[in-house]
Amino acid sequence: MMLGLLLARAGIEVAVLEKHGDFLRDFRGDTLHPSTLEVIAELGLLDGLLALPHQRVERLEVDFGGETYTVADFRKLRVSCPFIALMPQWDFLDFLAGSAGSWPWFSLHMNTQATGLIRENSRIAGVEAVGPKGPLAIRADLVVAADGRHSVLREQAGLIGEDFGAPMDVQWFRLDRPDGMDAPLGRFGAGRILILLPRSDSRGDYWQAGYVIPKGGDAALRQRPFADFQAELTGLMPEIAEPVGRLKGWDAVKLLTVKVDRLHDWCRPGFLCIGDAAHAMSPVAGVGINLAIQDAVAAANLLAGPLTKGAPSVDDLRRVAARRGWPTRMTQRLQLGLQHSLIAETLSADTAPPRAPWMIRLFHSWPWLRRFPARLIGLGLRPEHVRTPMAPRSPARVSR
Ligand SMILES: Cc1cc2nc3c(=O)[nH]c(=O)nc-3n(C[C@H](O)[C@H](O)[C@H](O)COP(=O)(O)OP(=O)(O)OC[C@H]3O[C@@H](n4cnc5c(N)ncnc54)[C@H](O)[C@@H]3O)c2cc1C
Repeated sequence: MMLGLLLARAGIEVAVLEKHGDFLRDFRGDTLHPSTLEVIAELGLLDGLLALPHQRVERLEVDFGGETYTVADFRKLRVSCPFIALMPQWDFLDFLAGSAGSWPWFSLHMNTQATGLIRENSRIAGVEAVGPKGPLAIRADLVVAADGRHSVLREQAGLIGEDFGAPMDVQWFRLDRPDGMDAPLGRFGAGRILILLPRSDSRGDYWQAGYVIPKGGDAALRQRPFADFQAELTGLMPEIAEPVGRLKGWDAVKLLTVKVDRLHDWCRPGFLCIGDAAHAMSPVAGVGINLAIQDAVAAANLLAGPLTKGAPSVDDLRRVAARRGWPTRMTQRLQLGLQHSLIAETLSADTAPPRAPWMIRLFHSWPWLRRFPARLIGLGLRPEHVRTPMAPRSPARVSR
């Protein structure tokens, strides 16, 4: 959607396909980091976005065995929004779709599922899809697969990747937040980790809670009485006993199967993968959406020019992959390091809660150091800036 917006804004005809009828999904990545908010500011859309309901997180705090440590402080970042905005992904996507729709050469096809690729003269020349009125074929100078971590299109293009594995999965659920109660974002206990993202909506204050469990452990947990799960949560954080007691049962708990992978090659002639389709990120530090947005900005910056002349070359597409490959690799390396040390160790501890790692203790003791993790998490490596021009809103079509 972000790439569609940027290309349409640059005067290029774009069709975005979405297989669902709306963007209303269960929670999936609601953390808009300063890098994403900066892109929105560069597009002149910040006031509109921040007028939507959201919550702000200015500092990241984690708790080890009852002691709270501040790990990152975004307030010192020199950006338009020195905070993480927590906003439902469907609101964010509706907002982008609304902005993109103000260009007459942007079209959004809901309920339209891409099912295959059209090949012509050894290049990909469009997609086959099934929409509300039946099958259709859309020809294009470029097909961008941003169809998520179970991408059908990348498979059809024959792109393969490497799966890096993960020691954990996450169970997500909504937990009432009595009187807007504050709590550290993460709590590490013996064998358990609880993530609490403070949220509010028309039903009141709540936490988007994530319970980190050993990989593949969801089915066995669900065999046990729900009261055991509630007791585990309360054992980790006695202050939340009351809202935990109000949880209705296993149906309220959704599983996120954690996956970390990356394609070796992100493109084929006429075809490019970005976002989760190119690299599923670990949930560590909540960077998935933000990296997908960065990919979109880089792709628009590098491809808008070539697209005005016709189909981009494979070298043009490789430039996008090369630009985003390095920050993706490095971010995944850091995430995998944390997964295999802190997270794996915590999940395998059976009696004593883990001790805060030395680096976390360092950031806590030396507040000025907190700007480094804030920069890494908030802005990422190699932050992208909008370089695409804004076309006049005349009906002339530049390319497709
Ligand atoms: C439960 C959960 C929690 C998460 N938490 C966070 C978080 O806190 N912070 C964070 O930054 N990231 C988080 N993520 C990851 C984040 O959601 C993704 O990294 C991000 O959404 C990737 O964006 P994307 O556009 O590449 O793919 P997606 O957001 O997966 O979007 C792909 C879109 O393509 C559509 N689609 C798929 N196949 C087709 C098809 N064949 N034809 C047409 N449309 C199709 C899908 O319906 C979907 O709308 C979470 C993910 C999950 C599942």
